[in-house]
Amino acid sequence: MLVDKSHAPRKRFGQNFLHDANIIAKIGKSINPKDTDHMVEIGPGQAALTAEVADHVGKMEVIEIDRDLVPRLLERFSNHHDFTLHECDALKFDFASLNIEGQPYRLIGNLPYNISSPLIFHILESGANISDMTFMLQKEVVDRMCAPPGSKTYGRLSVMVQYYCSAHRLFIVPPGAFYPPPKVDSAIVRLEPHAERALSNNEEEKAMSELVAAAFSQRRKTIRNTLKKWLSADEIEACGIEPSERAEAISVAGFIRLTQAYLAK
Ligand code: SAM
Repeated sequence: MLVDKSHAPRKRFGQNFLHDANIIAKIGKSINPKDTDHMVEIGPGQAALTAEVADHVGKMEVIEIDRDLVPRLLERFSNHHDFTLHECDALKFDFASLNIEGQPYRLIGNLPYNISSPLIFHILESGANISDMTFMLQKEVVDRMCAPPGSKTYGRLSVMVQYYCSAHRLFIVPPGAFYPPPKVDSAIVRLEPHAERALSNNEEEKAMSELVAAAFSQRRKTIRNTLKKWLSADEIEACGIEPSERAEAISVAGFIRLTQAYLAK
């Protein structure tokens, strides 16, 4: 039995447990755990993914908020050679604290959908050294993360995720793979952080995040309008960008240039 139904799934924790063995194996294969990996999982739940990877990795750490699931997770992995459970809220967790001697770790999770966007921002902005992330999210959120400029779904999430990482949708997972089934399709996304980033520190990246949020705050308006507190039309033009464009037409590189122009003022 993959899901213990005596544990009533908690909506407030976004609990939709994977119970389709084929899908679980497919996700495991796409993660491709190796014995040298330091693997970290957000929301192990009833261990569907954890069990798939834990035995294949050097070090396994999990972060779970639901204290009712903790005893069975500890019991299940009591014989594991190197298993650590952090009972806490991933939104408040210091992801950089898991780096050992600066070495990167891998991050996975079938993420609670109700907090997925803030959680992604929290992780990206954490300063943690992460080699790759494999997440299950609502398909719609994955599509927004991977969207190119000019598409309808291109927005703040696309720009900021693609500023930090390359983002690839791997495959779609239907509602029937979960107990209880969610109302929407899900998808697996692979995020690979860029080795180098254009902005040099957290403050500059925070400015970019705010500038991008302002640009997309009214999607139908031109950036001359939405960014007028940030840059004049001439300053926007000096970045090689038409002030009459809307945010959805501007590439990640364009937003970086706009941020650099603002920071240089
Ligand atoms: N990994 C399991 C699976 O695939 O079946 C469970 C996935 S379920 C969609 C999300 C999991 O994240 C649940 O175990 C839930 O309790 C946990 N969770 C929800 N909010 C959390 C938070 N803020 N911090 C850490 N874990 C959280």
